[in-house]
Amino acid sequence: MPIASFARAVVAALSLPILASPATASESSSFSSTRVRAETAGMRQLIADGVAGSAAFRALVSIVEQSDLVVYVRCRLFPEHELRGRLGFLSAAGGYRYAVIEVSCYQPYSAQLEILAHELQHAVEVASAPWVVDAKTFERFYAAAGELVSSSGGTKMYETCAAVERAARVRRELRQIDLGGFK
Ligand SMILES: [Zn+2]
Repeated sequence: MPIASFARAVVAALSLPILASPATASESSSFSSTRVRAETAGMRQLIADGVAGSAAFRALVSIVEQSDLVVYVRCRLFPEHELRGRLGFLSAAGGYRYAVIEVSCYQPYSAQLEILAHELQHAVEVASAPWVVDAKTFERFYAAAGELVSSSGGTKMYETCAAVERAARVRRELRQIDLGGFK
């Protein structure tokens, strides 16, 4: 689940619909986070189930919660078949930094939980690097901290061992609870 270092033009296109609807993101959910914001009811439920079912997942949300990073979570129909999720950096403004996690809508629910945990680990990585403030510094950070896994059309994809390990831990924890209620 590589991180996308979005091209500048893509960042601008992404930021408009996302930043337009942050306020109502968690109003109707029993779980509420001011930093991890779902764009839809489905993603809101995914976050709530991850928090309820996995201590490792809960810890990731907690770390982001205490940072200056606001992470929007949305479902995405990726044209690339192999891409299951990614984190992109949007902007820094008013003392906050904004990023977006996109989870593949095509994946089964349990897989979406793992993908979200994986991408939340990347969010924690970005949260721990306050000098990451735009697409350029985001890419510089992952060029140093991650491994370049693909590069095409101006978009570079990076991966980190920590994110792969974190998703595996969340998967183990979720298997220990009753997943019967999950879609
Ligand atoms: Zn990744």
